[in-house]
Amino acid sequence: MGNAEDKKGPLPASATVHADRRFGVEHGGIHKPIHTSVQYGFDRVEDLIGVFQGTFKGGFNYARQGTPTSAALENKITLLEGGIGTVSFSTGMAALTAIFLTLLRAGDHMVSSQFVFGNTNSLFGTMGDLGIAVSKVDACAVDNVRAALRPNTRMVFVETVANPGTQIPDLEAIGDLCRERGMLYVVDNTITSPALFQPKTVGAGLVVNSLTKTIAGHGAALGGAVTDTGLFDWAAYPNISPSYRSVDPRQQGLQQLRKKALRDMGATLSPEQAHRISLGAETLALRVAQTSATALSLARFLQSHPAVAAVHYPMLESHPQHAMAMRHFKAGSWLMAFELREGLDMQATLNRLQLPIKATGLGDNRTLIIPVAPTIFWEAGPAVRAQMGIADGLVRVSVGLEAADELIADFGQALA
Ligand SMILES: *Cc1c(COP(=O)(O)O)cnc(C)c1O
Repeated sequence: MGNAEDKKGPLPASATVHADRRFGVEHGGIHKPIHTSVQYGFDRVEDLIGVFQGTFKGGFNYARQGTPTSAALENKITLLEGGIGTVSFSTGMAALTAIFLTLLRAGDHMVSSQFVFGNTNSLFGTMGDLGIAVSKVDACAVDNVRAALRPNTRMVFVETVANPGTQIPDLEAIGDLCRERGMLYVVDNTITSPALFQPKTVGAGLVVNSLTKTIAGHGAALGGAVTDTGLFDWAAYPNISPSYRSVDPRQQGLQQLRKKALRDMGATLSPEQAHRISLGAETLALRVAQTSATALSLARFLQSHPAVAAVHYPMLESHPQHAMAMRHFKAGSWLMAFELREGLDMQATLNRLQLPIKATGLGDNRTLIIPVAPTIFWEAGPAVRAQMGIADGLVRVSVGLEAADELIADFGQALA
């Protein structure tokens, strides 16, 4: 392990803007075009057979398992994450479902952080109904993860920064634990994105990104991705089906994901959406640097404001995992949450805001704001909200590209 700077990895901008050309674009184009063909024809039947048997590299057979356009986006994500390969999906939830339902089986057990995206928490319920048990623990301390392990625990799942509470798991220690016990470590990197953090540096075997969020940035396309970091030993993983044992052991996890989750389940990213996400990703590093700086300024302003009871942002010294964030992340990201003082009228306060859009969603170029308890965590109920540390007055902010001064002035007048 090197020093902290090494861990934070290289700046991703150059990789992203040259990725398409690096892997080859028809006619010298600088963007991979939108390939809408569902079928792919071959001059020689040997090549058609080769595509089915995996010996014809880079070939396509049917668009449900990917297209040249989605493959170009996958290459981009692989470069950003420093991985060995990526499979893209129609949404971030499809990417998570693919991992949990094609790499776990009935009778298996998984340990997850209790602070996860609400729909992921809902998916855990579905998994339970299918016989895959999920234990939810406070993963900010590795001991809680260790205490929940069972002989049949195959996987540990965390998110880099939890939404909306911004809790950060004990990233590196959990990675060490997974390596010792041969468990698959899955990290959802959606909030930080590879521009701020590569989960590979803490031992993750698989990395999930919802491409819908900051990787696209424009809020005009849905997508998800799973990247294999190359660290996990698939040869020792019992849940790889015999059909996929014949490929290079390093590729077995992705092969099963692509075949089972795309071919059998069909949650495929369309070429149009892949192209839009790809264009958005070109400016990822710039956007995330900018929105992180603005978020920190806004967080400091809110923290000093008498109408605000608490601010949750990893780069504030008051954040419980501030040291962890400083150690692993290049910046704090665009996600923050704050709690209004009791007795203040939350709805009236939010209605006075002019710039932020009152909307659900994350990682958009525009600032989005939402009161958490009565909306995205309403269905979860008070017990789950309490377990996830969601106070009734909690407000989530996804900071966009507006100028920091303008945003702060707007919050200032709304809170006055
Ligand atoms: C949004 C989100 C997802 C799901 O992504 P979709 O593209 O909306 O399906 C998964 N994980 C996290 C952390 C998210 O924020």
